[in-house]
Amino acid sequence: MAIERTLSIIKPDATRRNLTGKINAKFEEAGLRIVAQKRLHLSTAQAGKFYAVHAERPFYGELVEFMASEPVVVQVLEGEGAIAKNREVMGATNPANADAGTIRKEFALSVGENSVHGSDAPETAAEEIAFFFSGLELVG
Ligand code: ADP
Ligand code: MG
Repeated sequence: MAIERTLSIIKPDATRRNLTGKINAKFEEAGLRIVAQKRLHLSTAQAGKFYAVHAERPFYGELVEFMASEPVVVQVLEGEGAIAKNREVMGATNPANADAGTIRKEFALSVGENSVHGSDAPETAAEEIAFFFSGLELVG
């Protein structure tokens, strides 16, 4: 399988509870390398733009408000099949449905406050990485 890069976000519910290191350990244990990382406090406008694909969903307003509520850690993960592998390590969107050992099973508070974001396909990964990082910031 090809080496891929994917965009990950450690969400405000997790940064607030000081879980950045524990979540990063899960990525590294799965063979994903953190090749770029920064902590940001998104504005409502930035969070709304990032999640524009969900603008018609009933939870959009709540999601944007949550993502702009406190700092996040945005990062680029690299590895073999990184996009799908990261989704496996994250677990299902709703922690009630997430497998044992996944980030969301262990740390998520609810379907909304679910600790991590991960790109879902090669096209979205490329777009989402470019949303937060310049080429100069990606050091493999
Ligand atoms: P994922 O993050 O697993 O790719 P989606 O892309 O479907 O999930 O949704 C984006 C984010 O929107 C979720 O991670 C979660 O924070 C929020 N969300 C999804 N569904 C709901 C819901 N039913 N109620 C509240 N928030 C939700
Ligand atoms: Mg998604």
